[in-house]
Amino acid sequence: MRYDLNMAQPGTFGYLVGKLDVLRVECWECNRAGRYSVAKLVAERGPDAKLTDWRSEQTKDCPQKNVPGVVRACHAIMPDLVGLRAAYSFSGWNGP
Ligand SMILES: [Zn+2]
Repeated sequence: MRYDLNMAQPGTFGYLVGKLDVLRVECWECNRAGRYSVAKLVAERGPDAKLTDWRSEQTKDCPQKNVPGVVRACHAIMPDLVGLRAAYSFSGWNGP
């Protein structure tokens, strides 16, 4: 099966191929930082897997997430995505 990267939706692993080699997840509340190979994630999850689903999975044991009465205490972010979005919107990039 061949996957057409031009069809990749923003927010999926497939979208990151060719843009990022390593995806980082950081949470300053639980003091964690992880680095994951994009190629490996695509191989394991498939290019259509959603980054947000994956992130909540990575942080499901975050102590800040299980505080009663707090909806979103874990502040895990994917800093590389912020950079991607900024870089592409300022350069007029409109597709791979
Ligand atoms: Zn956290």
